[in-house]
Amino acid sequence: MKIDVLTLFPEMFEGVFGASILGKAKEKGIVSLQAVNFRNYANNKHNTVDDYPYGGGGGMVLKPEPVFAAVEDLQVEPEAKPRVILMCPQGETFTQRKAEELSKESHLVLICGHYEGYDERIREHLVTDELSIGDYVLTGGEIPAMAVIDSVVRLLPGVLGNETSAVTDSYSTGLLEHPHYTRPPEFRGWSVPDILVSGHHAKIEAWRREQSLLRTLRRRPDMLEKVELTAKERKWLKEMADSARHSDV
Ligand code: SAM
Repeated sequence: MKIDVLTLFPEMFEGVFGASILGKAKEKGIVSLQAVNFRNYANNKHNTVDDYPYGGGGGMVLKPEPVFAAVEDLQVEPEAKPRVILMCPQGETFTQRKAEELSKESHLVLICGHYEGYDERIREHLVTDELSIGDYVLTGGEIPAMAVIDSVVRLLPGVLGNETSAVTDSYSTGLLEHPHYTRPPEFRGWSVPDILVSGHHAKIEAWRREQSLLRTLRRRPDMLEKVELTAKERKWLKEMADSARHSDV
């Protein structure tokens, strides 16, 4: 996979692209990551990429020319169209499903805004997706782009040491993940659940599934509406929800 980020602050990506899982994925040749300064595509002598908004008002607006020129320059083969993603608080909320969808692509281009906003023609005629990382506003698209890139790259085959760990992650299964414990078996008087040290694999799996369902019920009941469950699991969850309601009274 090839990922290009258009930004006015490429230096912000140096640490993120070089460290940890992303750094290793790059080293192994699984992904190529590049931060491109689209100021290099400004077509004026002061390298200006923003301008005052038509109609007045505060804030500066990113001009279309440098952003279009930078994206077109990255599109090496005309028929191999990249997904061009605008980082934007007004976009579709980024989810694990979207990360899975994007991880199947061969080329992503992420555009990081700054200032007040973009010229609307970028949104209308250049991008294929608009992504928001949540209902809050950051100063620029760099941190949102890092979040998207990290979550997409960790899904690429060969990136995570243990291939199954991304499959059992929260949201991948449609549920929140079960709790984890490690050594020591007892810490400050708090013990690891007996079942986890029993060595009984089937019972451990059943306990994990139950914990995952329970945690989702307590923290994100909305997720249970969309996930496929057995009739037995639905019945058990209903009993749990009813008993929680009664203990509140
Ligand atoms: N005036 C814009 C609005 O109200 O929608 C907000 C502009 S924001 C200060 C500057 C840039 O930061 C945006 O163009 C976008 O690239 C990025 N950004 C801010 N919050 C974001 C979010 N929640 N998700 C994705 N990108 C975001």
